[in-house]
Amino acid sequence: MELGALLCTPKKPACFSCPLKAYCRAFQEESVEKFPQKIPKKAKKKRFFHYIVLKKGPHIYLKKREKSDIWKGLYEFFLYEYKEESRTFSLPDSFKKLFCGTKIPLISLPEASIDHHLTHQKLAISFSLITLDCVDLLAFDHFLLAENLRPIPIEKVFHLPFPIVLSNFFHRFASFFSID
Ligand code: SF4
Repeated sequence: MELGALLCTPKKPACFSCPLKAYCRAFQEESVEKFPQKIPKKAKKKRFFHYIVLKKGPHIYLKKREKSDIWKGLYEFFLYEYKEESRTFSLPDSFKKLFCGTKIPLISLPEASIDHHLTHQKLAISFSLITLDCVDLLAFDHFLLAENLRPIPIEKVFHLPFPIVLSNFFHRFASFFSID
């Protein structure tokens, strides 16, 4: 007999017909209604991602996620992960050096911000774009090395595997990825 399906149902157990009632501690202690105990759901971990899409001539700079983290093996733009529970972020200092003190040509895309839910994590993701026309080349090489970013020809970018949230971004902002 499938006891769980026929007699010991979670909402209305048929204890008086149950062949195990003499051995059932919950029944003996008159605490059947306390079972099954609900396990409280673990709160999802919140993370704050800001992606900066770097474009230089016919290339987009991407990296492959290698760490044992979400999206392992998939590609992404330059990611700045920050802690504050705020949608505003400031560029990391390493990034500011690239532009030799000139104004950084950063285009924020607040309309692309999205909350993305995974099984155990909630990601607040925002995006901005930078076309790298004028950078300090030496500092830029160091930056690419440190961040493990590689130039990928735009026509090849669409053949790489991305997390769904970044694929959606590509489609929405396709005009930025057109070859000049
Ligand atoms: S007696 Fe125990 S095992 Fe049997 S139906 Fe009731 S709670 Fe379930």
